[in-house]
Amino acid sequence: MTTVQKGYAKINLHLDITGIMAGGYHSVNTVMQSVSLCDTVTLSLRNDTQYALGCNVDGVPLDGSNLAIKAAKAFEAAVGRQLGADIYIDKSIPMAGGLAGGSADAAAVLRGLNELCGSPLDLNALCRIGGSLGADIPFCIVGGATFADGKGDILHPFPSMPDCTVVIACGGEGVSTPVAYRSLDELYGGFTPDSGYTPKSLTSLYSAAEANDLEGIVSNMFNIFEAPILSMRPVAAKLKQTMLSCGALGAMMSGSGPSVFSIFNSAENAQHACDEIRKMGVTPHICKPI
Ligand code: ATP
Repeated sequence: MTTVQKGYAKINLHLDITGIMAGGYHSVNTVMQSVSLCDTVTLSLRNDTQYALGCNVDGVPLDGSNLAIKAAKAFEAAVGRQLGADIYIDKSIPMAGGLAGGSADAAAVLRGLNELCGSPLDLNALCRIGGSLGADIPFCIVGGATFADGKGDILHPFPSMPDCTVVIACGGEGVSTPVAYRSLDELYGGFTPDSGYTPKSLTSLYSAAEANDLEGIVSNMFNIFEAPILSMRPVAAKLKQTMLSCGALGAMMSGSGPSVFSIFNSAENAQHACDEIRKMGVTPHICKPI
């Protein structure tokens, strides 16, 4: 039996740091929205207890370090049963771009194995397994629009974005997430209680989303990583400028970057932005919120 699962990319409409948790993790406030840009993960159970992983893109680890395999092992442990599967990832989500590609694949594996095993686990149980592997995985399991706090793994309802066209581009100037956090720590006194940093309010973004007000959403987007990372990543900064000059209502870096996404209310302007991005030698991805 085979199942085909989509693992959708996410964009962060809001990403802020609220402090430092026990264990040294930064706590965040974030609003994530799934978009139709996705990896397609095909899974079939094997008669033995081996995993065979394939992927259409070079550079994706095909061993136990791949989040897809980690997810499969964690699923096995949760259901108390040894499994084996052939897993193929058809990857469209740019890697290491702040779009949660690996997390999307892990979520697809958890959903897929659960289906192939006759759905022994409910959504909450799958999210618990996902959360033990990576902060973005619970969101990738649930999808849609979500406000998340904690490490980004505690999910709360948030109104979905209205229909629009989203253009995403990743210039490939890799950003290591720990390095990104370190540069923020230097800027904001380590986010300790006496650092004086006050997280941004989400009230205006929430009200705009609730009112289906696309321009209101765009004008209230925020990403604390954006200013320091874009100052070190000229291609990402240029991508953002190009998107805005082609008529995007707004453009912002996703996650800790370096992907940049832009929101258009005109499909024609979005296509024009894609043409200009291609001229920079970067592949644009055109998609929608889902
Ligand atoms: P996030 O937004 O959750 O921080 P990201 O989009 O920035 O993630 P990923 O594409 O998930 O980054 O990949 C980060 C690293 O994880 C890659 O460099 C790769 O070595 C490793 N990795 C493990 N599993 C996967 C996977 N299934 N797909 C892509 N990368 C993976």
